[in-house]
Amino acid sequence: QFETVGFIGLGNMGSRMANNLIKAGYRVAVHDINCNAMKKFSDIGAATKETPTEVAEASDVVITMLPTSSHVYDVYTGPNGLLYGGNLRPRLFIDSSTIDPQTSRKLSTIVSNCTLKEQKEDHWKKPALLDAPVSGGVLAAEAGTLTFMVGGSEEAYMAAEPLFLSMGKNTVYCGGAGNGSAAKICNNLALAISMLGVSESLALGQSLGISASTLTKVFNSSSARCWSSDSYNPVPGVMEGVPSSRNYDGGFASKLMAKDVNIAATSAKEVGLRCPLTSQAQEIYTELCEDGHETKDFSCVFRHYYSGKNE
Ligand code: NAD
Repeated sequence: QFETVGFIGLGNMGSRMANNLIKAGYRVAVHDINCNAMKKFSDIGAATKETPTEVAEASDVVITMLPTSSHVYDVYTGPNGLLYGGNLRPRLFIDSSTIDPQTSRKLSTIVSNCTLKEQKEDHWKKPALLDAPVSGGVLAAEAGTLTFMVGGSEEAYMAAEPLFLSMGKNTVYCGGAGNGSAAKICNNLALAISMLGVSESLALGQSLGISASTLTKVFNSSSARCWSSDSYNPVPGVMEGVPSSRNYDGGFASKLMAKDVNIAATSAKEVGLRCPLTSQAQEIYTELCEDGHETKDFSCVFRHYYSGKNE
């Protein structure tokens, strides 16, 4: 259904996702403000464009994979933005960045108020936006095994599924506009808090004289078992092949986790829900970044219990 795919944001995640689209046979036109990121694509024969507007002019569908809500908003609505002129070639826009659901909903309305340059009998009549953030880090992006959680119209979701499956292995339709972003933020909030729960309990266990390895064995065969204990243990030496075993390098940066928890806290405030654990997690992950660990994996939050701030 979509032959030419525009891709904007060729960073750690986006470069790998765009590569998988090329491998799947799509014609891909790319844009990034970083020239080096673009060069890697021109070297393999992909079309490179100077602005988002030019990407839109050359594409049936455009995917964005950018750092934050404000980057996404600017790339869509800025002076050289994807929606410039309001009469558009792409029928579909997919934003896979992790951003707040309010911005996703706002953009969805703006996109649906635009018009399509070409109307076809079997197509929907207005351009559509899907918010489709991903779970799985750089390795999953490379291997094409991401999970997409998707908000927007079901018709647009069905049309986009082959694209998702070229970059990932699971897709979950979450409902209307913004629900994909909401799902992602809630997933990462639960992870941020469970990582703190496991870290806090293992630190207490050590102080009570039980080794982290022994206590992890107990957790993993008892009711405290969770992803943070059995797949991504935060204590150095307990598991191999995870960031804690390599000085917390690689993995999911603390600054990205802090960003996601901040979005959760703002969203909670906007809907008037009291979320005390979110506030505490926000404080701790922000402190972790301020202490110079912003590029380390977020499981280094375990160190917080030995940082002196906790004494
Ligand atoms: P990144 O910083 O590596 O890449 C972002 C890219 O966007 C960069 O190449 C940057 O030059 C480009 N960019 C910034 N502003 C731009 C603009 N105005 N126009 C064009 N290009 C612009 O980030 P990433 O790790 O690829 O993450 C992207 C998104 O995916 C974030 O929202 C992040 O939270 C989310 N995410 C990341 C991971 C992960 O493990 N890295 C996992 C899941 C979700």
